[in-house]
Amino acid sequence: MLKEKSRIDIILQPVGAVALDDLLWLKEKIPQKLPFDVKVLVNMWKVQPPLSLYDWKRMQYRADNMALWLSRLYSKLIRPLQTLVLGIVDSDGFVPGLNFVFGIALPSRSTGLVFLRRLKSKSLEVYKERVLKESLHELGHLFGLSHCPNPRCVMSFSNSLEDVDKKRAEFCEQCSEKLKNILSSLL
Ligand SMILES: [Zn+2]
Ligand SMILES: [Zn+2]
Repeated sequence: MLKEKSRIDIILQPVGAVALDDLLWLKEKIPQKLPFDVKVLVNMWKVQPPLSLYDWKRMQYRADNMALWLSRLYSKLIRPLQTLVLGIVDSDGFVPGLNFVFGIALPSRSTGLVFLRRLKSKSLEVYKERVLKESLHELGHLFGLSHCPNPRCVMSFSNSLEDVDKKRAEFCEQCSEKLKNILSSLL
């Protein structure tokens, strides 16, 4: 009997006024960077988060609550390690105790977010690389990875844009191995 090829779907969900170009860039690049087959699906329909998630004083969204909200929108589709959702948010986010976050991942809900506002740069190339790195980082968490001590690895924790720019849009050898092991344990 033929074994059905396992496939992982990553759904990209724009939140707010996200440029189609950014989404298509991620759709093309993400599969090239992961050590297994994935299909990236782009939902062209933007969604608007509830205003209750916005902090008017800080002018930022509460990142953890937004991720929960998005996971609820997709609760019927999400399958751990099989169908994951990554929200691309044209705004800034925070969690209590941190001034801001570039992104957030809720592995138990297979849902992550990347906040674009702070990743912007005069150089479109630099901006796109940052968006890709932070997307791969949050996806890495959704696939079960923790932070990596290697500052060049995409799974290293970024406190600043300098940290983001320092790392490459690649999983280091160890993180790639871990990813493969996590996935193969499922088959
Ligand atoms: Zn992280
Ligand atoms: Zn690593």
